[in-house]
Amino acid sequence: MKKMNVYLDNAATTKTDRISIKEMISTLNQNYGNPSSMHEKGRESSDALEKSRKIIADSIGAASEEIIFTSGATEANNLAILGVSRKIRKNNPQKNHLITTKIEHHSIINPCKALENEGFKVTYLNVDKQGFIDLKELKKTITKNTILVSIIHGNNEIGTIQDIKSISHICHEKEVLFHTDAAQSYTKTYLNVKTQSLDLVSLNAHKIHGPKGIGALYIKKGVQIEKLMFGGSQERKIRPGTENLPGIAGFSKSAEIAFKKYRENQKNMTALRDYMIKELLKTDATMLNGPVGNTRLCNNINISFLGIEGEAIMMRLDLEGVAVSTGSACSSQSLQPSHVLMAIGRNHEQAHGSLRITISKYTTKKEADYAIQKIKEVVQSLRALSPLKIPTKTRCKQ
Ligand SMILES: *Cc1c(COP(=O)(O)O)cnc(C)c1O
Repeated sequence: MKKMNVYLDNAATTKTDRISIKEMISTLNQNYGNPSSMHEKGRESSDALEKSRKIIADSIGAASEEIIFTSGATEANNLAILGVSRKIRKNNPQKNHLITTKIEHHSIINPCKALENEGFKVTYLNVDKQGFIDLKELKKTITKNTILVSIIHGNNEIGTIQDIKSISHICHEKEVLFHTDAAQSYTKTYLNVKTQSLDLVSLNAHKIHGPKGIGALYIKKGVQIEKLMFGGSQERKIRPGTENLPGIAGFSKSAEIAFKKYRENQKNMTALRDYMIKELLKTDATMLNGPVGNTRLCNNINISFLGIEGEAIMMRLDLEGVAVSTGSACSSQSLQPSHVLMAIGRNHEQAHGSLRITISKYTTKKEADYAIQKIKEVVQSLRALSPLKIPTKTRCKQ
C-alpha cells in the first residue's frame, strides 16, 4: 500500500481553509489601521472588525454587542469562569459556588481550581458511561449560593453532546447562569444562544479551519463580568488590547464557509465516522468510548484497544503517515490516563489503550480506508509483541 499522509487529529486543531488564509492576507495588507483610530484607515479596520463580529454573532443567534473577541477558547473559558464568579461574589459575598463536570477541558478545570484557591466551592458532576451528566443530579446540586454552571457542549475526547437546552432550563429555574464551552461543537452540531437560552458560550477559530490564537466569548446582554486584564477600552472594556484583526477576519471567514455547507458537512462526516467505528470495532477486544448516533460529535471516534498502549499505536501510526491522538498517559506529561475516560468508568487498561481519531470535512473515504488498514496492522503487530493475553474473539460490552 502506497504511503499516504492522513490527518485525523482534528479535535486538536484543523487545517486552515484556503479562503480564510486569503482573507487574512488581504486584511494584513489592507486593514493595518488600528480599529480604535479616528482616521480613515482606522475606520476601515473598525468596519472590518464589526463585519466579522456580526458574522460570528449571527452564526449562534446572538447580537453583535454580545460577542467579545479573545485569544482563543482558553481565554474565553477563563474570562467566563473567573470573570463571572469574581464579579458576583464581590456584590454578594455569600455567592461562592460553581458547578462543572469531571469531563471538562483543562481550560475549565484549571480556572475552577484557581477559584477554589480563592475560597470558592466547586462541584464536579459525575457523568454516566457515555459521558452524559444527570439532569436530576444537576438540579439537586444547585444551591442558593450557586453562581454559575459550566458544562462542555461537545466533549473533545469522546464526543458526547450534552443537552444544553435542558441544562440551561434547570439553571434558569434556579436563577443561576449557564456557560458552555462550545469549541468542539461549533459548526458541527446545533448551537443557538436564543433557542437554547445560553448565558455564556466559548468559541474558537482553529477548531473550525480558522487560524490559531483567536476565539470569542458570547456574553448575554445584562450578564455582569469582571475583566481579567487591564488596558485600553477595546471589546466593551472587557478585553483590552488592539484587536487581532487578521485572526478575526480568518475566524469569521471560516465560520461563513462552515455554515454555508453545514448540513452537507455534518451528513458526510457522520457517515464516515460511523463507517470507521464499524470497521474498527471488527478488531478483537475493542470498545467504543462515548455515545453512538446524533448525541456524538459527527467527527469523533474514540476506541480502546485492550492489552496495548494507545501511545504505542499512535507512534507507530505516525510512522505510517497517520496522525491521531490518545487518552493514554504518556502523551499528556502526567502519568494519569485521560480524566475523561476515567470519569466514564474505564479502567486503566481500557483508558491506556484508547485512540482518538477525529475527522474533518476534508477527510476522504480513501484516507479513512488507509487509516483503518494501518490501525488494524499496527494493533495486530503490537498485540503479537504484547506479554498480556488478549482474549481473542472478545467484544467488550459498552
Ligand atoms: C481546543 C479546545 C479549547 C482550547 O481552545 P484554544 O483556542 O486552543 O485556547 C477549549 N475547550 C475545548 C473543548 C477545546 O477543544
